[in-house]
Amino acid sequence: MKLTNEADRLNYKNVWVLAEFTPEGSMHSSTFELLGAARKLADDSSCEVWAVALKSKHAQTSRALVSYGADTVLEIEDERLGGFNDELECGALERLVRKYRPDILLGAATVRGRALIPRLAGKLHTGLTADCTGLTIDRETGELLQTRPAFGGNIMATIRCRDYRPQMATVRPKVMKASEPDENRKGRVISETLEPEDFLKIKQIVETVDEAQGALSLGDARVVVSGGRAMKGPEGFRLLEKLAEKLGGAVGASRAAVDNGWIAYPHQVGQTGQTVQADVYIACGISGQIQHLVGMQSCKTIIAIDTDDTTPMMQMADIAVKGDLFEIIPEIIKALDKAGIGKGGNET
Ligand code: FAD
Repeated sequence: MKLTNEADRLNYKNVWVLAEFTPEGSMHSSTFELLGAARKLADDSSCEVWAVALKSKHAQTSRALVSYGADTVLEIEDERLGGFNDELECGALERLVRKYRPDILLGAATVRGRALIPRLAGKLHTGLTADCTGLTIDRETGELLQTRPAFGGNIMATIRCRDYRPQMATVRPKVMKASEPDENRKGRVISETLEPEDFLKIKQIVETVDEAQGALSLGDARVVVSGGRAMKGPEGFRLLEKLAEKLGGAVGASRAAVDNGWIAYPHQVGQTGQTVQADVYIACGISGQIQHLVGMQSCKTIIAIDTDDTTPMMQMADIAVKGDLFEIIPEIIKALDKAGIGKGGNET
């Protein structure tokens, strides 16, 4: 939506956050993180935070969105929502944006967000900055300054969207911090409905396949066991799954392993994968190129296993174990078994 003149800017106001729901209907944790970021932006530009919830009937209520910082919840509740149906969601969102005219629109760079949000930006004919790591308001112009790594993570670029609205950005889960919920916050709810025009191009969904199989918890895992090119094949990842299970953790991977087809993309950690903030990150045969490090460097304790102790990962690790992972990992599993760890649950 191109701004027609200087005064047209005033027709757009408020910061919108697209709420995301899991297939079971609970709120994705990234929604709360986005609300924390949106709250700061709205306070700096004296406007409201709106959470937009397109949800099925059994999904979590709007109360949580208000307690985490929304002033207004704009919702459509309909049992046809809630699946992976980005054509329908995009149609409804486009209509809501044209009606209420937000100045800023934020979404999560999750699997769903990465499908839906670029489609919406295209429909609205506005810019989108993906995978932002910083969002601030330019005090002089009131514009959104969107910062993200560029050129393989070697520089940080700050991008603005001068002539089009809304200013759209996605943020990866775990990059921003959620504020503490305040159960006493008050907000209002605006209810809308799906309209016939939202369905115009809808296709029938025949089957939904969840390739991630547990990887959705990667971002929330306290322990992540990741493997790289050294895993040699899918069988290598079975070994990591065993270790992760014993530690109550999730399995991650480098892009080299994903590109080789040894493990599905949602397990990828790094610049073009997920960001993790685990208590313990165990890197097995991952050299630690910058594109991988940006996705895991804020983990509390980093353990690296590699035959080469000069790699960036081995150099940055809190504990660096030099040796062949195919010998070391079975030994660790044996030791955990002996200590009775991981037999009945998540004892880490
Ligand atoms: P390698 O660099 O080949 O490292 C393998 C390591 O295993 C070596 O250190 C080796 O010494 C060790 N090793 C070998 N055998 C054994 C053994 N038996 N026991 C123990 N250690 C052993 N990468 C990502 O991971 N995530 C991203 O999101 C990502 N995004 C990218 C985006 C762009 C635009 C580009 C250009 C690249 C991106 N990459 C990403 C790729 C990245 O640059 C690296 O190529 C990749 O991370 C390397 O993967 P690796 O560490 O598994 O492989």
